[in-house]
Amino acid sequence: MKIGLIDVDGHGFPNIALMKISSFHKYRKDIVEMATIGDYDICYVSKLFNFSEDPNSSLISYKHLYKGGTGYDIKSKLPIRIENCQPDYSIYPLYKFSLQFFSRGCIRSCPFCVVREKEGYITPAKPMNLNPQGKYIEVLDNNFFANPEWKSAISYLLEANQPVNFHGVDVRIMDEEQAYHLNLLKHRKQIHIAWDFPEMDLLPKLNEVIKYIKPYKLMCYVLIGFNSSPEQDLYRVTKLNELGISPFVMPFNKSDKYQKRFARWVNHKAVFKSVKWENYK
Ligand code: SF4
Repeated sequence: MKIGLIDVDGHGFPNIALMKISSFHKYRKDIVEMATIGDYDICYVSKLFNFSEDPNSSLISYKHLYKGGTGYDIKSKLPIRIENCQPDYSIYPLYKFSLQFFSRGCIRSCPFCVVREKEGYITPAKPMNLNPQGKYIEVLDNNFFANPEWKSAISYLLEANQPVNFHGVDVRIMDEEQAYHLNLLKHRKQIHIAWDFPEMDLLPKLNEVIKYIKPYKLMCYVLIGFNSSPEQDLYRVTKLNELGISPFVMPFNKSDKYQKRFARWVNHKAVFKSVKWENYK
């Protein structure tokens, strides 16, 4: 059979579902390729973000079409026989990094996040094979230290001996032992943390963490426009800056004038460091 794969998002990351589908069909001796033009027995279309536009598929014909991914249906899942396959990185030859999960789900249910609805409560996950061409690892866990098996994940990453990029570190639950272990790894970029809830005083926790991790290695997302006042927004970014941690503002409503302006001020580092908010606005 001839199998066509369509990655709708094209957002700079390999699509894990498509890589697993590729492995599944290659094992069955099918021909697999990214579909651009031609006739296919089966076409698989995967979309992660609902704002991604469906492709113009007038150049492609198929006998069967399967669409999946969070962008189509938040509950969408691969059949277990495909889910259990290892990712085939050869369909993304330009990406020189690996994607990895040590857990799925999350312990929290933040009102602006779909993770809990999509993946449920946190459960440890068996690591996937790494990209043979990979030079670093994107650690995609939603809440790395909520995983009861976080220590074996750290051991795995130390053994892999590649720089890592963490996407989900929940500083609210992080203790000194975890901060110490996180600092043992080679970090490719700043470690991403978040201060989304303004009523939560994160300062004691941040002070604890920066005993082990130098503050310039931390980047903190600050959600604005969801449940915070402008005063609370300014307070959070000011305190982070005083600690030496880079704030990065995430506007909840990107078309809101104040949110856009505040985000532009904070996220432009040179401006944020040299101009006060009252002068900028
Ligand atoms: S902690 Fe992060 S991943 Fe978990 S529900 Fe909240 S925003 Fe989502």
